[in-house]
Amino acid sequence: MPYVYDFDHKHPRPPMELKDLLGGKGANLAEMTSVLDLPVPPGFTISTDACRDYMADGWPESLDAEVARARKRLERAMGKVIGDANDPLLVSVRSGAKFSMPGMMDTVLNLGLNDKSVEGLAAQTDDERFAFDSYRRFVAMYGRIVLELPGEEFDALFDAAKEKVGTTSDAKVPTDVLRDLVTSYSELVERHTGQPFPQDPAAQLRGAIEAVFRSWNGPRAIAYRDRERIDHNLGTAVNVQAMVFGNRDDNSGTGVGFTRDPATGAKGAYGDFLVNAQGEDVVAGIRNTEPISELKKQFPKVHAELLKIFSRLEQHYQDMCDTEFTIERGKLWMLQTRVGKRTGAAALRMAVDMAGAKDLGISRAEALTRVTEDHLDAVLHPQFAGSDFTVWAKGLGASPGAAVGRIYFTADDAAAAAARGEKVVLVRSETSPEDVHGMLAAEGILTARGGLVSHAAVVARGWGKPAVVGAEVLKLSPHEVTVGGITLKEGDWLSLDGAAGIVVAGQVPLTEATPPPAFATVLSWADDVRRGKLAVRANADTGEDAANARSLGAEGIGLCRTEHMFLGEDRLPVVRRMILADTPAEETAALEELRQVQREDFVSILAAMDGLPVTVRLLDPPLHEFLPDTEEMAVKEATTGLTAEERKLYDAALSWKEANPMLGTRGVRLGVVKPGLYAMQVRALMEAARQRVADGGHPVVEIMIPLTVSREELALARSWVEGAVAEVTGEEAPAPSNGVAPMKGTKAKKGRLEVTIGTMIETPRAALRAAEIAEVADFFSFGTNDLTQMTFGFSRDDVEGRMMGTYLELGLLANNPFDVVDFDGVGELVRLGVQRGRSTRPNLKVGVCGEHGGQPDSIAMFYDAGLDYVSCSPFRVPVARLAAAQAVLAASADSAGGKTKKPSGKKSRAKKSAHKKSKGH
Ligand code: PEP
Ligand code: MG
Repeated sequence: MPYVYDFDHKHPRPPMELKDLLGGKGANLAEMTSVLDLPVPPGFTISTDACRDYMADGWPESLDAEVARARKRLERAMGKVIGDANDPLLVSVRSGAKFSMPGMMDTVLNLGLNDKSVEGLAAQTDDERFAFDSYRRFVAMYGRIVLELPGEEFDALFDAAKEKVGTTSDAKVPTDVLRDLVTSYSELVERHTGQPFPQDPAAQLRGAIEAVFRSWNGPRAIAYRDRERIDHNLGTAVNVQAMVFGNRDDNSGTGVGFTRDPATGAKGAYGDFLVNAQGEDVVAGIRNTEPISELKKQFPKVHAELLKIFSRLEQHYQDMCDTEFTIERGKLWMLQTRVGKRTGAAALRMAVDMAGAKDLGISRAEALTRVTEDHLDAVLHPQFAGSDFTVWAKGLGASPGAAVGRIYFTADDAAAAAARGEKVVLVRSETSPEDVHGMLAAEGILTARGGLVSHAAVVARGWGKPAVVGAEVLKLSPHEVTVGGITLKEGDWLSLDGAAGIVVAGQVPLTEATPPPAFATVLSWADDVRRGKLAVRANADTGEDAANARSLGAEGIGLCRTEHMFLGEDRLPVVRRMILADTPAEETAALEELRQVQREDFVSILAAMDGLPVTVRLLDPPLHEFLPDTEEMAVKEATTGLTAEERKLYDAALSWKEANPMLGTRGVRLGVVKPGLYAMQVRALMEAARQRVADGGHPVVEIMIPLTVSREELALARSWVEGAVAEVTGEEAPAPSNGVAPMKGTKAKKGRLEVTIGTMIETPRAALRAAEIAEVADFFSFGTNDLTQMTFGFSRDDVEGRMMGTYLELGLLANNPFDVVDFDGVGELVRLGVQRGRSTRPNLKVGVCGEHGGQPDSIAMFYDAGLDYVSCSPFRVPVARLAAAQAVLAASADSAGGKTKKPSGKKSRAKKSAHKKSKGH
């Protein structure tokens, strides 16, 4: 296999499909050149194979010769030679990995200039200033990136030169000063390296290519890949391309354009440009840009051509594209394109608009696959509540959502404050990839400079973080920021609205987010796809949560953790009385009291989910969780002493204390040692259901026994449940016949009360013995939190803090298995449990209610395993609805194409938020 491919190389497949080999940028440059015939400066791509081989064994032997041949072809195409003393060709050397990693790797521009060719460039262009400015930029860039010299030293020389001539503008530095700067930059290089600045173009080229390879493993790139879960072994391609100059004159310029608005999804060209500037100036946000609509006035022909290209790109890629372009002396050149990143609101709107557009031919199924978990999360972000605030500063709304935090002015300070638990807003003049850790730690980002495609804007948008950029009114100093006489210092509160571009001094209350109209449309399409295949329920423990979950599309409750009802201030003393009871009469009285309060809770949950199944799990945690902490009591005993009541509680806590409560007396085991407890809960539940029926409701009750390990254990628990059901309803309970209980439908009929009894599958044994457990269960629900804990033997309360990070770093685990379900181990138990359960009871209803029920990759696995529903926290329900549809679509595409999924190089995305896995919820 060759390492080097020209942009016009004839590949057997469309180059845009060859991102593994050519990287994203190289693949799209080749597509624009060889398929779309767009005006792209010629060049060649050094493949990711070369980078991987370089990382493994150093510079590949055949690479120099291949690069030399490609260079010759490029020189022939351009009619110019790199390094030529009379009319030199200059090239750019850019990174381009399979997945876009904006600003994380290195680029070298103006390569090919040396002490001789700079004079040739000056003569050819009749512009000495341009030639020496280009050379100055090249020496500094090469020095910093290839020779790894401190960039500040070049900047200091440039700043000193500007000061000497009394200007702050780069454009006003005269030619002779630029000439002198080249000399002092070269001296700087020689001082550091002991060698003169390299003059040989071949050596320059090799150095730059190697630097790009190296930058794949730079700290910025590694941190970015860790966050985006991109495989560290992919490597980057390198693109060597003939330079065109947007900084030639005032008939030149450079810009970034989108075929639709990436922030809102609105149709029509969108972007920024700068007259007389190089590409990096736009992206770095150092100069304030002009909107692309202005291009029409200054460059009407280019504007028309660009719009035509945009429409071709959309037709070809059938999606919104972003582009980089340069105008050199009135001629338009396309430097890059790719399917563009977009905000959540834009993704939803584009999905709906594009599926409805006749000319694009995108199916609803295709549209659904383009919306991600992050997009939905972004539109579910909070916003400013009301309008009772005074706008302090305005900038460009670069990334939607509202954020409130304390101001920090450096990325380090922001990250440190966030680590102390503070909410932070990062305020910078502009951001660069060096600031990424501070941006990550911040709730929101505010910059004084830069446009909508500046680093701050692009990164924040990609991460769904609220950001306001280009707020030029900000007067920044190292520890404070002033606007209109109001100065805010480090640590002061600031609020920002990243959609409206509004900044407010102080804390603005936030509301919950209101998703755009396309949100409901996309989710309704998702529901159409998954209906009858994979249902989505919610884990909810109160009527309010249940109502919220239903409004977000939940089709029932998959887990109501009844212990949550015991923790209220009014409930806890009653639970404690039950635990402390000395006599059966005292215990019964306490249970009776609990029954009353639980009944009310159940009524409101059943009302909120009327007509939909509600799975109520009987008490699960160990009883000591309801008792005071023994260590605190010991301290109290030793200091102020204990009251008689406290003494009793302390004694009880000591007697219930277990060395390993997670594996102790909890779940159904608790029911076995306190038999009245489960019966009480069932009575409360059935009374609530009966009341709902009396009120004309349709309760559909599923009673779930936690932490079962055997048929016998479940059969015993089932007998108490059935007894209590019969007691309340006066009807014969759904007793197992021939050892197999009749399967009840969950569709409620008016005035009828339907009850089924099932179990959680949370222990490996339960999964293994599922065939016999199914004899006495109407349904299974996989509790993958505990199942993960017990399959790995990883304490769900302990391992994530201490060892998980190291395990992930060392590659011992691909994902945190508490975030993304472990496909191989836990997944095998799930598949086996479903299979064995259904071997006994073919129509056994099976769901999952562990936290994985809201995680897209896990949802795909559960669908594949044959589950009927997933259940997750209410705010995850929209994500689960979409992910369920995507799982159904992927499975049908796979079976239609007989394909097995190829690994993409991106690992499963773990949830960003921490989830409660502890039993002390
Ligand atoms: C589980 O273990 O997955 C589960 C849902 O139960 P809990 O988290 O309450 O232990
Ligand atoms: Mg559990």
